[in-house]
Amino acid sequence: MPSLADLHALKPLQQPTYPDAGAVDTAVAKLRTMPPLVFAGECDDLKAKMAAVSRGEAFLLQGGDCAETFDGVTADNVRNKLRVLLQMAVVLTYAGSMPVVKLGRLAGQYAKPRSSDMETRDGVTLPAYRGDAVNGFDFTPESRIPDPQRLLDVYNASAATLNLVRAFVTGGYADLRQVHTWNTDFVKTSPAGQRYEVLAGEIDKAMAFMSAIGADPEELRRVDFYSSHEALLMEYEHAMTRIDSRTEQPYNVSGHFVWIGERTRQLDGAHVEYFRHLRNPIGVKLGPSATADDALALAHKLNPQNEAGRLTFITRFGAGKIRDGLPGLVEKVTAEGVSVAWVCDPMHGNTFESSTGYKTRRFDDVVDEVQGFFDVHRALGTVPGGILVEMTGDDVTECIGGGEEIDEEGLAHRYESVVDPRLNRVQSLELAFLVAEMLRK
Ligand code: PEP
Ligand code: MN
Repeated sequence: MPSLADLHALKPLQQPTYPDAGAVDTAVAKLRTMPPLVFAGECDDLKAKMAAVSRGEAFLLQGGDCAETFDGVTADNVRNKLRVLLQMAVVLTYAGSMPVVKLGRLAGQYAKPRSSDMETRDGVTLPAYRGDAVNGFDFTPESRIPDPQRLLDVYNASAATLNLVRAFVTGGYADLRQVHTWNTDFVKTSPAGQRYEVLAGEIDKAMAFMSAIGADPEELRRVDFYSSHEALLMEYEHAMTRIDSRTEQPYNVSGHFVWIGERTRQLDGAHVEYFRHLRNPIGVKLGPSATADDALALAHKLNPQNEAGRLTFITRFGAGKIRDGLPGLVEKVTAEGVSVAWVCDPMHGNTFESSTGYKTRRFDDVVDEVQGFFDVHRALGTVPGGILVEMTGDDVTECIGGGEEIDEEGLAHRYESVVDPRLNRVQSLELAFLVAEMLRK
């Protein structure tokens, strides 16, 4: 594993400029003493599940906020998000007749790459907000100064989130019967849900059948749930990378799965250099500028042994580009015998600014990109492995459309995201039902 200084010598992109180097060293030294948030063995389990995803024997559901906030670490917020993810997973499991790998985009998703270093509002220019891991969202000069103490806050917030998630998923909250009841309520009580009555009715029958025969396996009561985030900040990620005593291999123990963003995936860059040493399952975002040769070079560098489950390509082309852009990548990568899980991020290629001044996405574009992803893989005989969505369990108004028909004016009603717009509770459930229909065909 390269040292932090080695990585800095490669000039990592998208890093904060801290005013006080001594304070950074102190924070990093403290972080290095903190216990792991996840265990290497759990990362290996997830890697085996991602191998199943790459073979088409499981489907990945990855979801959570674009950017978590420290204020957002409340029992209500975490529970609502988890609940919707579990609800989505049940629908997908039934429709796909295969296991759904549940991967939260949470407990560590606090650092954001930005397209511009500065932000201007009403003639005032300040450093851009880079996530709660770096600086404050408030638009004041003090709040926008990068503060390394925040790296320790990320650790603590992630630990609290993960603790709650682990308690929920093993303590009865994830009981399949309970989750199914929530889905039935959604279908019954929300106009958006009524379209999905048939599918929900089928699941109902399957549940009634199991109950009639007295089937009550442990699997009904608990689920495996994993955490993930974009490993962006070298200080934090390096300090949270440890040598596993069993295997003597380096693992990032701040999350089970970590990924490289679209802006930091340069082949000779610091992020790729750092990631290639990790033993976690990892992802790389691929946008429309990625060529098939880029993808191949990344795969060879990040997964030289071609280990199944190790590498996931998360494509984010945009609804208008995926049908033309994706086939070339998938064809060449497949022809070379490269083992990879293909996952669709239908969010980041579909962002625009509304006439009312909000960063938003259209629900229909999100659905269309996932449909395009399925179409491309079905045509090539390859595997559409899963989806990555930015979502929340709350009834926010950040994306346009869906059954509630949120329009540009409606965005102002409850827009809370500090970075990218998220699907709200109803939009997330609708998406799950729509993807379920795609999985079945
Ligand atoms: C994100 O996932 O929030 C993100 C910044 O995505 P990308 O790197 O694909 O732009
Ligand atoms: Mn985002």
